[in-house]
This record gives sequence, structure tokens and C-alpha cells, in this order.
Amino acid sequence: MHRRIIVPGALAMAALLPAIPATAASFSPGAPGIGDPYYPAYGNGGYDVSHYDLRLKYQPATDRLEGTATILARTTQDLSRFNLDFLLDVSEVRVNGTKASFATAGEHELVITPKSPLRKGAPVTVVVRYSGVPSEKRAYGFTSWHRTPDGGVAANEPEAAWWWFPGNDHPLDKATYDVSVQVPDGSQAISNGTLQSSASRAGWTRWNWRSDKPQATYLATLAVGRFDLTTSTTDSGIPVVNAYSKDLGPHAGAARASVERTGEIADWLAGYFGPYPYNALGGYVPNTDTGYALETQTRPFYSPRQFANGSNTSLVVHELAHQWYGDLVSVTGWKEIWINEGFARYAQWLWSEHEGEGTAQELADHVYASHPANDPFWTVRPGDPGPEHQFDIAVYDRGALALQALRNEIGDEAFFAILKGWPRTYAHGNATVAEFRRYAEEVSGRPLAALFDTWLFQPSKPAAPAARAASLAPAAGTPVAPKSWKKIAATNDAHEHGRGRAHAH
Ligand SMILES: [Zn+2]
Repeated sequence: MHRRIIVPGALAMAALLPAIPATAASFSPGAPGIGDPYYPAYGNGGYDVSHYDLRLKYQPATDRLEGTATILARTTQDLSRFNLDFLLDVSEVRVNGTKASFATAGEHELVITPKSPLRKGAPVTVVVRYSGVPSEKRAYGFTSWHRTPDGGVAANEPEAAWWWFPGNDHPLDKATYDVSVQVPDGSQAISNGTLQSSASRAGWTRWNWRSDKPQATYLATLAVGRFDLTTSTTDSGIPVVNAYSKDLGPHAGAARASVERTGEIADWLAGYFGPYPYNALGGYVPNTDTGYALETQTRPFYSPRQFANGSNTSLVVHELAHQWYGDLVSVTGWKEIWINEGFARYAQWLWSEHEGEGTAQELADHVYASHPANDPFWTVRPGDPGPEHQFDIAVYDRGALALQALRNEIGDEAFFAILKGWPRTYAHGNATVAEFRRYAEEVSGRPLAALFDTWLFQPSKPAAPAARAASLAPAAGTPVAPKSWKKIAATNDAHEHGRGRAHAH
């Protein structure tokens, strides 16, 4: 059911496009993908974006989005042409002020040929004018745009940007954002970062949001609908803006009782991970029929359904933990997903301990003992799960189990020094599982290759001696599930995909 084999069509495209002038012989096309083996067509080569300025207008009644994206980038090679990832209808592209020719290709490629080729290392400004109905656009047969009764929402992983702005859609290319969205009076437009201003004119209200720290494209979000906003400030001084659809029905109370804890939980996480890295904080709950949450930067997305059984602060802990593990330090490629999910899940275990509902050790013992050796759970390698299993429950639970094994191996002092030092060391950048291992070895002074191999890379259940060596799992029987188990399990589809990929649970 998965269709990740993509023929970029670069050769076919080359035949259709005008020949490059002889004077530009050294200039070549940017690659149609950034080089991620899990998702070969995601992102693009040849340039690096520093800033997206998105000036948009959205009509909830018709789901029509229109606007202009101004992209500031720098070339990383002599470029004859380059791609953006995008699905809406483009009417004009300008490169450094001059009209450029453009064409679509593959599932989500916008191929741009500037009038003059671009020298390596040069700043370049790309202006894309566009419009379209995002809910009508599909790539690989799915849409990440969630139409709601009163608007729409873009929030998904790894792909969400294609439905609302053109970009270099891969975590390797982070940038800052100004997102300005005009919506009819009475509707609200929610995005990342700080709300700089909102003003009404002639029946339309413009909402201006700013993310002034590097942000991956999949962590950019847009939600339009009828929202109630709440504002507050954390003890540490970070302004909090939360937004709740007015249409959450019976889930409204539990949603607010969870997300209103955002400031408190972020301050608590800062005790483990270091100071909160951004100048804005919050969460939003639109009236979608989705079942997952996403760590959209500074302002996570939550689904109403996740509060069907009451409040769930563990879910908020998970998404806020990602602000350090995933957002501040992002994957270099999607196979490194453990450096996001293993830690966000482990933060939930620490929260359980904090709440007196089971220690991280008890949760680890439970995970280890409740999956017998023949459970397919153990065939997933959290350190390189493959695109099919990128968000498998094993990446979360076995991923957190690996961290408990590490903690038991190196001791609390080194372990918590690593949890706090890692986000600072790789702040606003990208990293790999191997870099985490080397960092942990450096801080702890211990060789850890065997431990990482056992817990993250073997397609089998670590045997009893390995478990004992890691101080895990009592000799026999399934330990009683810690009290927090159900709340944590309720977050298991935190990243279930909009296209229906579901977890085992
Ligand atoms: Zn997560």
C-alpha cells in the first residue's frame, strides 16, 4: 500500500525544457530530491532556504487559498534550474525579480528555470504566486490538508507543506517564517511563533505570525477556523497562546484541561532538557476528525479525539518534549526518527514518574516483558526502521526502552547530563543516531556501540543477559502495567498519518 518508489522524471523533463545556453555549460539542474533514502523526492538540491515570507488569503466557505510566497535562499551549486515541492496552482514565478518559466513534474515538484542561470553561493529571491483548493490536491493518493466545517488545517509528518506553501520540504533545510493570513472577520488563522498583530479591514482580518528561529517545513502549520484563543505567560517568562476550535463538542473541557497545562509542562521539561528554546509557546485543537498530534514548532497540533477519554497531560508532554528533541535538534534524514520519538516517549515516562504513576524503570520493564520474543514488535529496528515503520509503536516504546538501558549502563548523572547537553550542542541544527551515540560516549566516557546495536539495531528481542546487564526486566512474568500505561498508550497514534496508516494499537 505504500508507494514510495518515485521516478522523478528528470530525464523526461530535460527533454521538454529549453536547452541551457552554451555559456552556462557548467550550470546544472538542482536535484529533485535532497537525498533522503526513505523519501527520494522530498526536498530538493542546489539551494538552501533561509526565510519564507507567506502572504496568504483563505476563504473557509470554499477552501480556497491564494497568495504569494517570497523565499530567500542561497545557491549551493551553479544552477540552471531548481525545484520546489508544491501542489497548488502557480500563476507566476520570479527569480531575483525576473519572470521565470516553470512546470510541474512528479508527484509534487515545481520545476523553475530562471531566465539567467544562478552562480553558486549567490543569494536568490524566489517569488511564487499561487492559488487553489488544498483539499482537492493529492500526492501519492493522499492529502495532508484537513478540511473542517469552518476552515482547514495543515499538520502532518513528514509531509504537510505541499498543500499550503512552496518550499524545500525536508528537515535538513530549516528557515525562519513570517506567515500572514487574511481570513473573514470572525475566523482566526493560527500558525507558529508569536502573533505580531491582527487587524480587520473591509470584512477581512489579517493575522501576522512570526517564527524567528530556524524551523523545518513539516513543523510549519496553518489552521483557519473559529477559535477561542487563550493567552498567558510561563513562570520562565515565555508567552503562551493556545487556540481551541469553538466546535470541540464534549471534548472541549478535556482538551483545555490538557493544553492549558502547556506552560507548566514546558517549564518542567526545561529542568531535564535545558531552557525552552523559543520565544513562543502554545498548542491548538482544531475541529478535525484526525486522531494524532504533531509537534508543530512552538505550537503543537492536537486532535479532539485524543481527549475523548478525558484530559491527557502525557500527550502534551510528548509534543512539548519534541520542541527540544525533533524541533530544536532535527533529523538529518527520516531514518534518524529515533532521535525524535525515543526521547519524546521517554519524557512521558519521566512525567509518569513525576506524577507518581510508575517509574521509567517500571515502564521499561513492562515494555520488555509484555512483548514476547516472537512479537513482530522486536523486528522493527528503531535506529533505522524503514519508511514503512517510521512511526511504528516500536520506534516509541522500544526506542524509550533503549534510553532506559543507556541510563542504567552509564548512571543517572551522565544520562541526565546528556539529555540536557544534546539539545544545546546541536541547537537549531540536525543530527543522527550515530552522532547521539558518539555524544553519549563522550559525556559518559564509556564505549556504547554494543549497547546501541542491541537495543536499536538488532531485529530481535535483546536476550535476558543483555536485559540483565541493562538492569531490565524481572526474571519471569509480565509486570503489572504502571498506572500511567493507559494514558501513554492513548498517545500511541501521536503521528498516525492522515492517509490512514495506523499503528498496531
Ligand atoms: Zn512524537
